[in-house]
Amino acid sequence: MKPINIAIDGPSGAGKSTLARRIAAKLGYVYVDTGAMYRAIAYYMHTKNADSTADIIAQLPNLTVSLSYGEDGVQHVYANGEDVSDKIRTPEMSMGASKVSAIPEVREFLLDTQRSLAKQTSVVMDGRDIGTVVLPDAQVKIYLTVSAETRAYRRFLELQEKQPDSAPSYEEVLADVIQRDHQDMTREIAPLKQAEDAVLADTGELDLDQSEALLLQICKERLQT
Ligand code: C5P
Repeated sequence: MKPINIAIDGPSGAGKSTLARRIAAKLGYVYVDTGAMYRAIAYYMHTKNADSTADIIAQLPNLTVSLSYGEDGVQHVYANGEDVSDKIRTPEMSMGASKVSAIPEVREFLLDTQRSLAKQTSVVMDGRDIGTVVLPDAQVKIYLTVSAETRAYRRFLELQEKQPDSAPSYEEVLADVIQRDHQDMTREIAPLKQAEDAVLADTGELDLDQSEALLLQICKERLQT
């Protein structure tokens, strides 16, 4: 049977990862977090002091990015075999990922891995260009959106809980969110945008359970037709 592919795109901080993971668990599909792959590249380039586009491209052949799944279904991401899953979750790596992801060679580098995962097995894949570029034939495409202010406020609370002494201010987080949105939406290659056949899901007013229910409903409807 042909694997089912569910593509979830949207800006950073819209809750894509959390929701995609939950939906994948409910449906029994594999969750693929493509942002983590870009972050792993950013991490590797950082360790190699590769900062310019030319240096980054030159380092790509030395890198292998791979994914594995723990018994609990949690995705781990590796850069040349090193599990970098935790190290990539910093504001610095967020910016780094946004930067490397604007380089066509970097996107091309990840495309095969992403597509072959989706060919082998049913996936819920989240990112920025999954419905538009990576899996244009996905049976379900969802564009998840939440206002920049709400996303920044949620992120601000999360950071305060994680690092109460060194958390950035709400204004700083908002500026970061706006800058990343701008970078992701205006880059020349695979910019963040809603695919024509994607369903728009605005979860700004919904809690996690309600958002999950909405997304599952969309999947159900799309898979029936
Ligand atoms: O989703 P996450 O915030 O982890 O992604 C980090 C960065 O990677 C994003 O800001 C975006 O620039 C980039 N990205 C991308 N295409 C994807 C997934 C992520 O360009 N499919």
